[in-house]
Amino acid sequence: MDTTPDFPTLRIVSHPLVQHKITVLRDRSTPTKQFKELVDEIAMLMAYEATSDLPLEPSPVETPLERTTGRRIAGKKLTLVPILRAGLGMVEGVARLVPGARVGHIGLYRDHDTLEPVDYYFKVPGDAPEREFYLLDPMLATGGSAVAAVSSLKRTGATRIRFMCLVAAPEGVRRLAEAHPDVLVYTAALDRELNESGYILPGLGDAGDRLFGTR
Ligand code: URA
Repeated sequence: MDTTPDFPTLRIVSHPLVQHKITVLRDRSTPTKQFKELVDEIAMLMAYEATSDLPLEPSPVETPLERTTGRRIAGKKLTLVPILRAGLGMVEGVARLVPGARVGHIGLYRDHDTLEPVDYYFKVPGDAPEREFYLLDPMLATGGSAVAAVSSLKRTGATRIRFMCLVAAPEGVRRLAEAHPDVLVYTAALDRELNESGYILPGLGDAGDRLFGTR
């Protein structure tokens, strides 16, 4: 995992498999079915890295030969929170590694004129203060949705929140870090910039449309 002094909250997952798959994902000729499979696989590989510092606690276990002490993830179950709709594409991949994870949902869409997030759905487990949250959204673009999603989670008492995306723009990473410096951001790529419509360059286009075949 790479870090960069300009973006102290950012963690770039530089594993060769992730970098290879992100490049295929960017390709405009990659069809919907493959795009969906790649998002799923990259999310799973990234989850491996993004959970590498989870606290463990001793746990007794009976092997076929004797009793010993192993280790298990400490604390309450993790909670995955996809930001609708593109975040849905990352849930199964992460859940494959963390099958006991709960899944909340945040519905935000970007107003096409203001580019600001509009909140239309919010549902997470009730015991938020004790949980470790992973917000999922393939694209961290302006950062507007990410900031709004983290703020909504914090209003429920959540304190341990991480953000997982596939591609991030410097503008979005900066904006999220300014609003929520405690939130680590895991990405597979830090791209160059946003265009005037709020799309990431070089990016991969509209992640939701490419995932669900709506364009
Ligand atoms: N959302 C997307 O799906 N793509 C972008 O480039 C920016 C925001």
